[in-house]
Amino acid sequence: MERATQSIRDDKAIRLLSLVCIATSLAAFVHLRLSSKGDQFDPSAPGYSSSAHEVLQSSVQSYPVSVRPLKSVSVCLDAEQTLMAVQRVMPRQRSPLGGLMHAAMVLGLDMEIPWPSRADRLPSLKEVIYSNELATAYFGSPIFVETQYGLHNRLVDPRDSRFQLERQSHWGQLLSEFAKHGIPLTQELTTDTGTFAVRDILQDTVANYNTNDPQIEWVCIALAMYLPPQRTWVNKFGHRFHFDQMADELMRRQFNSDGLACHGIHLLEALAVLLRADFERPVLSELRRAMIRQHLGKHVTRLTDSQLADGSWPVGWHAYSSPAYSVRNSDSPNQRHLRVHVTGHHVDWMYLVLPDMLPSDEVFQRAAEFLQESLLCASQDAIQEHYCPYCHAAHALVTLSNNAVAPSE
Ligand SMILES: [Zn+2]
Ligand SMILES: [Zn+2]
Repeated sequence: MERATQSIRDDKAIRLLSLVCIATSLAAFVHLRLSSKGDQFDPSAPGYSSSAHEVLQSSVQSYPVSVRPLKSVSVCLDAEQTLMAVQRVMPRQRSPLGGLMHAAMVLGLDMEIPWPSRADRLPSLKEVIYSNELATAYFGSPIFVETQYGLHNRLVDPRDSRFQLERQSHWGQLLSEFAKHGIPLTQELTTDTGTFAVRDILQDTVANYNTNDPQIEWVCIALAMYLPPQRTWVNKFGHRFHFDQMADELMRRQFNSDGLACHGIHLLEALAVLLRADFERPVLSELRRAMIRQHLGKHVTRLTDSQLADGSWPVGWHAYSSPAYSVRNSDSPNQRHLRVHVTGHHVDWMYLVLPDMLPSDEVFQRAAEFLQESLLCASQDAIQEHYCPYCHAAHALVTLSNNAVAPSE
């Protein structure tokens, strides 16, 4: 009897969890369906300017490459606990764009926006981003600035972040999230000066591409998902770039370089995305493809060997052989937030690699247990303060559970 009740509860929890996952999977599924029809980007579409034609070739497709995990991972988690853990990152107050984009990793762009003072129906995050009127009412300023190349969303200045709610946290963050949610380049959005489309953000991003930028990871992810099969692009200074060069730069950077966010782990995420994009729409040379495989494979092996007993990885994760490595595994709350940051981010790229490069299911299982427990134990204030780490943790849990619950789509 007790077992039957438990199983009903599990069923219910699985259904609820599936609902949370639905935003992510539905967008990706629709996008897969549409992109599999190979609908090409149409340079003759209304609003497509001649300068755009120089930047984006006609081979560019409206829909980005999908980078959902290719192989299901066998992770066993209590569905009800996972749902409770994931719900803890739901935004509850008026939040900056960068924070909402983090929440959308878990809840999808269709999530209702937290807007306490609004009496009407709450719009979705997507509606707010696409509508200049709603965005200005919510954030206090328009999200996009028109430039001679397209549309630009400015980067937040950490010192003034309280007053810059409409800005993104990383250069390329907004476009890379659009790509991950399968938003087509033809998606319209309005600004103070008229109606534009997501392709205008891509054009501005291409125009401002600069290999020396201290943070290139999000831009690389956006370009790797939207540009292929186009292999080269030219920035506003007339410099031509290609994906092999992008791969070299991502592999060259040290994980502890100045200006790198999130312990350098987005470098590995960008490489994993690039390899997956190349798998769908080839853009890399044979040599670079092999080099990225080797580079990511090396880190998968080292991370497997260095995973701590509780399933996490600590700050300084890349100093694999350092004797101080295991000493950092203290359980002060701050150390735990840091380990959540590193662990959620590692899981978030490792399930994107090609199936033959995946770590064992046990590595994911142990990391997932650590992330679930950390999400459930952290105070709501701590989650708010360390929002990026906990959102990545929740996203990793959702992806692993989603993949485990419905492995055969
Ligand atoms: Zn991050
Ligand atoms: Zn983040």
